[in-house]
Amino acid sequence: MEAVVAYVDNELSPMATTRADAHLVLCTRCSEEVVNQVRARSLLRGGAQMSAPPSLLGQLSQIPTREIDVRRAGRSNRRSR
Ligand SMILES: [Zn+2]
Repeated sequence: MEAVVAYVDNELSPMATTRADAHLVLCTRCSEEVVNQVRARSLLRGGAQMSAPPSLLGQLSQIPTREIDVRRAGRSNRRSR
């Protein structure tokens, strides 16, 4: 999705932002791309602040990250048993 950069920069129109939000919820790859962009930006700016809008962070937090969940579940299961 080429609009990822504009989305991260919060330069999309309200309608485009709404579309992007809806798409990111469904599309793991694009959401990961947004996360990477946000990380890259925060690194460029010294890592002090997140430039992403709160709505974006809320959307991303709702997206299940399979790898992390699997790893955490695997570890906790092994430890508990
Ligand atoms: Zn996508």
